[in-house]
Amino acid sequence: MVSFEHANAGSIKEAVRLLGQQDRTPVAIAGGQDLMTMLKDELVRPGLVVNLKTVPGLTEITYDERKGLSIGALATLTDVEEHPVVRAKYPALAQAAAAVGTPQIRNMGTVGGNLCQRPQCWYFRGDFPCLRRGGDYCSAAVGQNKYHCILGGDPCYIVHPSDLAVPLRAYGASVEIVGPKGKRTVSLDDFFLLPSQDVRRENVLEPGEVVTWVRVPPSDGAKAAFVKFTERGAWDFAVVSVAAVLRKEAGNGKVAGGRIVLGGVAPVPWLAGKANAALTGVEPTDEVLERVADLALEGASPLEHNAYKVPLAKTLVKRALQQALAS
Ligand SMILES: Cc1cc2nc3c(=O)[nH]c(=O)nc-3n(C[C@H](O)[C@H](O)[C@H](O)COP(=O)(O)OP(=O)(O)OC[C@H]3O[C@@H](n4cnc5c(N)ncnc54)[C@H](O)[C@@H]3O)c2cc1C
Repeated sequence: MVSFEHANAGSIKEAVRLLGQQDRTPVAIAGGQDLMTMLKDELVRPGLVVNLKTVPGLTEITYDERKGLSIGALATLTDVEEHPVVRAKYPALAQAAAAVGTPQIRNMGTVGGNLCQRPQCWYFRGDFPCLRRGGDYCSAAVGQNKYHCILGGDPCYIVHPSDLAVPLRAYGASVEIVGPKGKRTVSLDDFFLLPSQDVRRENVLEPGEVVTWVRVPPSDGAKAAFVKFTERGAWDFAVVSVAAVLRKEAGNGKVAGGRIVLGGVAPVPWLAGKANAALTGVEPTDEVLERVADLALEGASPLEHNAYKVPLAKTLVKRALQQALAS
C-alpha cells in the first residue's frame, strides 16, 4: 500500500476543503469496506485519505409525513436494516440493507459508501486491460463475463455493486451533495452514469464532492419488495436483484403506478421504463406480470457467458411483483 496522510474531517466544510486539494490526490473514507481494498490493490494511490466518519450529524435517519425519509450518508447498513420506520414504510429498502454481505460488513458499511463503492469486475480489480482504468479495451467484453452486464454495457460491462441503490431508485430517492461549488440535490435517476456517458466514473460526483444525505419521498402506503439472487447464501454481491414499488388504485385491484429497478444486470441500477408503463392502470394478472417481466428485459444483449441472467431476471421481476402485491 502507498504511504498517505490521514485527516479526520471535523465538519463537511472541512471534508470538502481537504478533498478539494487536488495536488494531494485525496480520497474520502467512510466505513472503509471498499476503500481499504482499493488501497491495498493500489487501484487508488492517494496522498491524503479524508475520514468522513468524524463529521458529526450524518448518522441520523429521520422521517416526516410530508417530506419523507432522510438518511445521513454515514448511517450504517445495520441502522437502515433495523430502523422501525424503514421497516414499516420502506420494506424494500430494509430488505436490501439486510441482504448486504455479512453483519460485520453491515455494521461498518455506510449508506454513502454503499452508493459510491467501485465496481467488483475482476478485470477492473485485477492486472488486466480495463477501460475504466484508462486501458484500450474492456477485457470483460471478450473474457470471463459470467457476472457482467446484459443491459447498458457498451463499451464497459461492469454491473453496479450497490444493493441499496436498487430500492432507493425504485422509491424515487435523491442524494444531497456538498462540494467546492456548494450544495446540490440529484435524483438517483441522474446520479449514476452509464459507460457511454463516462467510462471512468460510476456517478456524477465531481472532485471534492461528498454525498451528505439520501432523501426518499413519502412512501404513501406503497407496496414494495426487494429480491436478490446470489450464488452463495452469505456475503455475496447480487447476480441479479429486483426492487418493485407499487401503488394500487383505491377501490379496485388496479395498479396506479410503479417502479421496477434491477440490480446486477447493468452498470447502473436499471430502471425498467417500459415495464413500469405496462403495469400502470391494469390489474396485475399473471399474464400482465409475464408481459411486464419480458418488457423489463427488453433490449438485453448478453455476452458469451451470461445469457442465463435474462430468464433469471425475468423470474425475479415476477417474484418481486408478486411479493410486493402480497405485502
Ligand atoms: C466481503 C464483502 C461483501 C460485500 N457484499 C455486498 C453486498 O452483498 N451488497 C452490497 O451492496 N455491498 C456489498 N459489499 C460492499 C459494501 O457493502 C460496501 O463496500 C460498503 O457499503 C461501502 O461502505 P463504506 O462506508 O465501507 O465505504 P468506503 O469503503 O469507506 O467507501 C467506498 C467508496 O465510496 C466513497 N465514499 C464513501 N462515502 C462517501 C460519501 N459520503 N460521499 C462520496 N463518496 C463516498 C469512498 O471514497 C470510496 O470510493 C461487500 C463488501 C465486502 C468486503
